[in-house]
Amino acid sequence: MNNTPTDCCADPGQKLLSVEQGRKRILAAVPVIAAAEQLHLRAALHRILCEPVVSRLDVPPFANSAMDGYAVRSQDCPDSQPVVLKIVGSSFAGAPFAGQVGTGQCVRIMTGALLPEGADAVLMQEQVSRDAEQIRFEKRIVKSGQNVRYAGEDTRCGDTVLHAGHRLGAAELGLLASVGVAEVRVTRRLRVAFFSTGDELASIGTPLGSGQIYDSNRYALFGMLSRPEIECYDLGVIPDRRDAVRTAFQEASALADLVLTSGGVSVGEADYVTETLGELGEINFWRMAMKPGKPLAFGQLGKAVFFGLPGNPVSVMATFYQFVLPAIRKMTGEHAREPLLIQARSTHTLKKAPGRMEFQRGILEPGTDGQWHVSATGVQGSHVLSSMSKANCFILLPADGAGATEGDLVTVQPFLDFCW
Ligand code: AMP
Ligand code: MG
Repeated sequence: MNNTPTDCCADPGQKLLSVEQGRKRILAAVPVIAAAEQLHLRAALHRILCEPVVSRLDVPPFANSAMDGYAVRSQDCPDSQPVVLKIVGSSFAGAPFAGQVGTGQCVRIMTGALLPEGADAVLMQEQVSRDAEQIRFEKRIVKSGQNVRYAGEDTRCGDTVLHAGHRLGAAELGLLASVGVAEVRVTRRLRVAFFSTGDELASIGTPLGSGQIYDSNRYALFGMLSRPEIECYDLGVIPDRRDAVRTAFQEASALADLVLTSGGVSVGEADYVTETLGELGEINFWRMAMKPGKPLAFGQLGKAVFFGLPGNPVSVMATFYQFVLPAIRKMTGEHAREPLLIQARSTHTLKKAPGRMEFQRGILEPGTDGQWHVSATGVQGSHVLSSMSKANCFILLPADGAGATEGDLVTVQPFLDFCW
């Protein structure tokens, strides 16, 4: 990074940076937070593992039954004639049969119970008739290993069950518990400070003055940042004054690994964000070929990574999901992943001017033809925040295209992709 806006930046007439190029640059520039902490499994839900976990045991730890039934020796069960076996005991989950199964014998066994020594198969109880202390079944093929779950079938001792960079979801918590792990090392929570800029912004709970609007960006940002791997600091609304923006920048960068602002990144007379970033830090670029969200400042502010997001609420959300979230994922040590993109049929014409990649708000639904169908939410202005609430996906329209007509296949990114 350098101190002046680079290539695509300062001059509004210059070439815009593509979304793909922007994301690549951001990911190349942001660091991984090296610090880690040791947490109990429950506290580690949705955190990012920072070292591999190797199993010290086989799971399951012993051969056991997959059914309620009878543990038998397959060599005692010829398939040509009826078989009668004597029941010599029982094996319950957690209360194994202590002895051995001998010739002509069997053991009553429950699901998950240890397979007794000598036995090599389990017969389902529905397949036999029981008569006091013996069972009987007609010519039935009993195969060695039938209904047996062998030791290590899930995980073997020495296996790496999870790699560094893995996000710990519900399955991972269960998996770690299954190998007896009580605590894990995860990357420490990422500190994110954010504030809004704008003299027109009123806080909720106060009446609106003439020309004022409520500050919605801080609430949408709070919502998007409320993730277990993030510790967020809301620094409020900063007026459009050079000194106030400057002070807020200094406070935020002293506090956080990542600083986010909204508004004031355009070329208006009261837009001090990019200018202040240039003075106190380093600007990487600030004009993107995307709609919504063309003005976007990115750079370094002291030790913190900085994103100056646009002011319009839909632009804030679109740029957060397309650029900030991938940066957060990298900074918290999560391994890289491809965006979740699917193809859907457009139910109507989607108008678009060539030049910028568009992220229209869409409603994705299964059609009666077995395919996914998508429709736009209506008015697509970057100030129409209700479009984000109605939508369940972005419709991605390539920069050089002219939109789509009814029935065309378009690429869609479900909002689900941003959940974790
Ligand atoms: P700006 O980039 O500061 O000129 O802002 C662009 C547009 O976004 C203007 O219409 C602003 O009023 C609006 N805006 C800026 N910040 C916010 C905010 N925090 N909440 C809602 N709208 C905002
Ligand atoms: Mg403003």
